[in-house]
Order: sequence, then structure tokens, then C-alpha cells
Amino acid sequence: MKKNIFIPVVIFSLLFQGCASVAGKKEISDNEINAQAAKAYAEVKAKSKRSTNQEWNDMVQRVATRIAAASGENFQWEYVLIESPEVNAWCMPGGKIAVYTGLMPVVKTEAALAAVLGHEVAHATQRHGKKQYARAISENTLGLIIGGATILGGQLLCKTKNCKLLTGLGGAAAGFAITFFDRKYSRDDETEADKFGQIYMAKAGYDPSESVRLWERMGAASAGKAPSEFMSTHPSDEHRRANLMAWLPDAQRAYAQAPNHYGLGAPIR
Ligand SMILES: [Zn+2]
Repeated sequence: MKKNIFIPVVIFSLLFQGCASVAGKKEISDNEINAQAAKAYAEVKAKSKRSTNQEWNDMVQRVATRIAAASGENFQWEYVLIESPEVNAWCMPGGKIAVYTGLMPVVKTEAALAAVLGHEVAHATQRHGKKQYARAISENTLGLIIGGATILGGQLLCKTKNCKLLTGLGGAAAGFAITFFDRKYSRDDETEADKFGQIYMAKAGYDPSESVRLWERMGAASAGKAPSEFMSTHPSDEHRRANLMAWLPDAQRAYAQAPNHYGLGAPIR
């Protein structure tokens, strides 16, 4: 009985604190968002099952390292291969990358994995996650999200598994987790990530024409399934394909000037 009276008061006061501390703050620095991402990433690593597939781990390591270098961004890069049937990958602000084992057989080649990681890394280098977070602040909803997530553990607020996994973090990091995993990037951001991603894979030494074939394979694999990050907010597959074809000459020039040429890289079985 005592508990029933106490809890609403705590919820109310924490919701209120959340609003007070976050609302009205218009800007968030790279350092702030990266610190929140790092907390969320540490939590993902602690709570996820890592893949023991040595061949795939080695491939993710070398592709992620090359894409990170090609981006020219001075992040504290990290990457992890998570054992999960999800056909997905992501890169948090500040260069924290995750690949799910379910993605590997779908991409089929090392170069296509480079196209996916190029796309994900581009979201981070173009500050798309930071923009999303800033938007949530300006909409004045983040204080409520943060306060609510702290108390309710995100079970009521979160749509995705990853969001639920991370809301125990509390505070701003929980707010970050919700904006990162539950809010889709805009179509413009997705298109920009495709464009930069194609250049990154080319500079990293992978044949950029594989990006077109990758997104065809991804489209076929996602038919009838819940869309993953990179299949979620896109214009039609034809539009994406047309864009990638239109940008390809620039990417081919970047590939010609790249210090190394791996072509399609190793096949993925
Ligand atoms: Zn994307």
C-alpha cells in the first residue's frame, strides 16, 4: 500500500527533472552524443552474444578497419559481430559498429559487407544520429522519454529489442538508445548514407559496383520481413538503384585512386 503511493510521486518528480535538464537545451556536442553512444554500446556488448565464427570475425574486423580509415574520421572506432538471426548492422555516433550474423549470408561478398558498413559509417560521419537526438530535444519529448525510460525500464516506451535492452541505462543514455534504435532516419539521410557509403567502400579498396548488387540482394531478402535499419525508410528499390548507378562513375574514380584493390574480396558462405 505504501509502495502504491510512493511510486507515482517518484515517477512524476523524475519526469519533471528529465524535462528540466534536457528541454531548452538546443545543441548537443559531438563529445556529449559520443559519450552517450559509448555507454549504450558498452551495454550492447555486455548483453549480446558474440559470434565465435573466426572467419566472419576476421572479415568484419578488416572491412570495418578499412571503411573507418576511408571515412577520414577521427573516431574511437569499435566493432563487434553479434550472434543473431537479424539481417542488420549499425554504427552509433562516434564510430561504434555492430554487425549481426544474420546479415553475413545475405550480403554474400566481402565487398557487399563493405557497402553495408560504408552506409552505416556514413550515418555517423554525417551526424545523422546526432541530428535525430537534437530533433527529439527540440520537439521537447526527450525529457519525458528519458524520465519515463528510467522508471519504466523502456518496456512500455520501446518498439525495438535493442531499445528495450538499453533503457536500463537511465538518464540521457536511455534517451539516446531510444532515439537511435526506435526512430528511423529520414529518407534524405538514407540517400546521403548510400552516396557516402559507396565512396567509402571504393576508397577502402572494394569494387563499388557491388553496392548495386548488394541492395538488390537486400531487397529480395527483406521481402515480407520486418525491415532492418538500411531497408526501412527508403524510397523504392528502383529509386535507390537509380541513385547508386548515377553516382557510380564518381565512386569508380575513387576506386581507381585507392591505394589497394580487393575487388569483391572473399565470398561469404
Ligand atoms: Zn541507413
